[in-house]
Amino acid sequence: MTRRVYNFSAGPAVLPEEVLQQAAAEMLDWHGSGMSVMEMSHRGKEFISIYEAAERDLRELLAVPSNYRILFMQGGGIGENAIVPLNLIGRKPQPAVVDFVHTGSWSGKSIKEAKKYCKVNVAASSEEVKFKAIPPRDSWKLSKDAAYVHICTNETIDGVEFQYTPDVAVDTGNAPLVADMSSHILSRPVDVSKYGVIFAGAQKNIGPAGVTLVLVRDDLLGHALPICPSAFDWKLVADNNSMYNTPPTYGIYIAGLVFQWLKKQGGVAAMERRNVEKATLLYDYLDSTDFYSNNIAKESRSRMNVPFFLGDESLNDTFLAEAKARGLLQLKGHKSVGGMRASIYNAMPMEGVQALIDFLKEFEKKYG
Ligand SMILES: *Cc1c(COP(=O)(O)O)cnc(C)c1O
Repeated sequence: MTRRVYNFSAGPAVLPEEVLQQAAAEMLDWHGSGMSVMEMSHRGKEFISIYEAAERDLRELLAVPSNYRILFMQGGGIGENAIVPLNLIGRKPQPAVVDFVHTGSWSGKSIKEAKKYCKVNVAASSEEVKFKAIPPRDSWKLSKDAAYVHICTNETIDGVEFQYTPDVAVDTGNAPLVADMSSHILSRPVDVSKYGVIFAGAQKNIGPAGVTLVLVRDDLLGHALPICPSAFDWKLVADNNSMYNTPPTYGIYIAGLVFQWLKKQGGVAAMERRNVEKATLLYDYLDSTDFYSNNIAKESRSRMNVPFFLGDESLNDTFLAEAKARGLLQLKGHKSVGGMRASIYNAMPMEGVQALIDFLKEFEKKYG
């Protein structure tokens, strides 16, 4: 008998059950091909049709303008931390300057990697306040001639999220805005035209690990440094419709099923309404009691990743064990932050959040 839990993992993370069922049903014989998608040539008409549908659906879901290319790559978010500078700093005299806004663990990793390739200007940082809030836009010290400005729009580990798209063009001589959206892409509508590049590893809010989405504006293609690996040169990848090398075919297929599922749910605007509802319910409960706390500034709280602490941390192990016994899994916080974290991505149903809150209440009653 199949047993499904509520999986609050930050990633790889929960997927829509309908998608998993469809993938299971199509495992041995995809649409009468007599093959699993895993066994198909990436150049055959079957896989090309899967690829084209995935690209088309994603373009529709995020209203991606026609002057942007959608790339399905490998290397993950961490790979893009190198791939982005390798593709963008060549537009400027070397050594180029790149501006970063340091809002938590993931932007921190991006900064560290970029230092291998360019001069890094940390235009703003919330490190002094332990990454509990996004630094206000009017405090950023951007460079006049930055090659690009990098932000992480949802800090998965720290639980802070940009609730707006910052304007950086005026201060930087029109530098493109680059965003790591790995852990909240497709959770809310986004004005793609305000970004030069958006990238996202798939394993948080899209599908299986191994696929990395890159949305890149046309004019930013074709500037890769000579040392950039060919497989990571966005122009080569774009010119070959993500098939310069063999793409992660099965992951693209699952991502495509998730895109179809999102369309059936009403698209990203509908997902946003649900995500707001789920996050509000959870934060409101955490705020209503001293037994638990979330100490992120309200205007910067992530709708996707909700870190929280028990007032009495000696109860942490008991909490995790009792949660697990109830089928509520992966609630342990990241080791750098401690405490607990509930990741409530698109595929986490309201019932899962409700079950978590019911458990939080009962646990408090028992031990509070
Ligand atoms: C998970 C995550 C990454 C890392 O992705 P990998 O696929 O492990 O390289 C990068 N950025 C953010 C915001 C993430 O949440």
